[in-house]
Amino acid sequence: MRKPFHAAIKERRDDLISLTQDLIKIPTLNPPGTNYRLICEYLNDRLSQSGFETQFVRAEGAPGDCDIYPRWNIVARHEGRFKGDCVHFNSHTDVVEVGAGWTRDPFGGELHEGKIYGRGACDMKGGLAASIIAAEVFIDLNPNYCGAIEISGTADEESGGYGGVAYLAEKGFFDPKRVQHVIIPEPLNKDRVCLGHRGGWWAEIETFGEIAHGSMPFLGDCAVRHMGAVLEKFESDLYPAMKARTTEMPVVPEGARTSTMNINSIHGGQAEDRGDSSALPSHCVPDSCRIVIDRRFLVEEPLEDVRAEVTNLLEDLKNDRPKFEYALRELNHVLPSMTDKDGPVAATVAEAIEEVMGKPAEFVASPGTYDQKHIDRIGKLENCVAYGPGVLELAHKPDEWIGVDDMIDSATVMASSLAKLLPDGSN
Ligand SMILES: [Zn+2]
Repeated sequence: MRKPFHAAIKERRDDLISLTQDLIKIPTLNPPGTNYRLICEYLNDRLSQSGFETQFVRAEGAPGDCDIYPRWNIVARHEGRFKGDCVHFNSHTDVVEVGAGWTRDPFGGELHEGKIYGRGACDMKGGLAASIIAAEVFIDLNPNYCGAIEISGTADEESGGYGGVAYLAEKGFFDPKRVQHVIIPEPLNKDRVCLGHRGGWWAEIETFGEIAHGSMPFLGDCAVRHMGAVLEKFESDLYPAMKARTTEMPVVPEGARTSTMNINSIHGGQAEDRGDSSALPSHCVPDSCRIVIDRRFLVEEPLEDVRAEVTNLLEDLKNDRPKFEYALRELNHVLPSMTDKDGPVAATVAEAIEEVMGKPAEFVASPGTYDQKHIDRIGKLENCVAYGPGVLELAHKPDEWIGVDDMIDSATVMASSLAKLLPDGSN
C-alpha cells in the first residue's frame, strides 16, 4: 500500500501546499472566533468537488456564539460503494492569537525551504490539509471501498471545544452507530500515535480576613497570611503526594507523566492596577485573597479524589489555624481520556506508521486536553486517537511552521490507515 499512496500524494505536492496556504490565509482567530463561516465555505467548495456531501452546523447558544462571531462547523461525508465502518478526521479550524516575535507574515502562508509559515500552520491547518489530500487520494485509488469517510472542520478547540466538537457530539455526530473510528490530526509528530490526554480541574480558592488599619494589623485578620498557609500546605503535603504518583499514560514530555498543579494567579488586598495615578497605597489589612489553581490529573485519579485532596487540606487548616475561613469555587473540569493502544484505530495507525516510516510507532499521551474528551465523554466513542504532522512544541509559538515533507509522510500514513480500515469491497 505504501508505494502507490506515497507516490500519488507526492504528485499532489503543489496542491497540498496551496491548500495549506489557503487555510492559513483565512484568519480564524479565537478569541473572538473570526471567519468560521468563511473557512467552512472554503472547505465546502473543496470537499464538494471531491464528492463529499457537506453539512454546515452552527453551534447556537454555545459560549461565544453570536451574530458577529457565529460558531460555524462543517461536517463532510463520502460514502463508499459498499457498507462498512466510517472513519472520521476531525480538525479544529481556530487558531490562537498571533503574539509578538514574528519574522514572517502570520497569515501569509509563506513557503520557504520546504516549510510553510503562519499562525495555525502546525496547529492544525497543516494536519487538516494532510487529511483532505489523504482522503482524496484514497478515494481515487480505491473507488470500491467499503464504508464512509468523514472530514470535519470545527470551531473553538482552543477555548474548550464547546462551540465545535462538544456541540457536534451532543447532536449525535459522533454516535458510534454513525462513526466508528476517529483520527484528530493534531501536531503530535508524524511517527507518534496519541492515545489521549490528562484531565484538568480548575478552581478558585479564596481566603477571608478582616479589614483594619495597617498600623494595627492585630485588630484585623490578614487574608494574605491565611493564603500563605494554604500555599505552605501545598508545598509540604500536596506537591510531594502528586509527584509520587505514577501512571500508565505515556504522557510527553516526561515531566508531565505525573499529576501537576500550576498556581495560575494570586491576588489579595488592594487592586494592583493603579492606572497612571501616582498615589501611594492606603494602609489596610486585606480581607480577601484569591488564587486560581490549574490541576492536571491522570487517568488513574478519579475527579472526586482530586477535589477531595485539596478540600481536605483546606479543612485541616480550618481545624488547625485560628479564624481560617475559605471558599472554593470550581471553574471548570475536563476528565482524562485514553484509548486502548491495541484498539482498532490506534493499532491501525501504528501499523501504517511502521510501514511508511520504517520504524515502530511511538505511543504518547498529551499533557493538555484537546477535543478527544468530547468524542469520548459526550459522543461515547472511545476509538479515537490524535495523529498528524507537525512539531508539537511549535504550537502557539511565533514563526509557527509545518514541513511539507512531514505532511506528505503523514498523509501517506492516513491514506494507508484508510485502506486498512475500509477494505476494497469488490474483491
Ligand atoms: Zn490544536
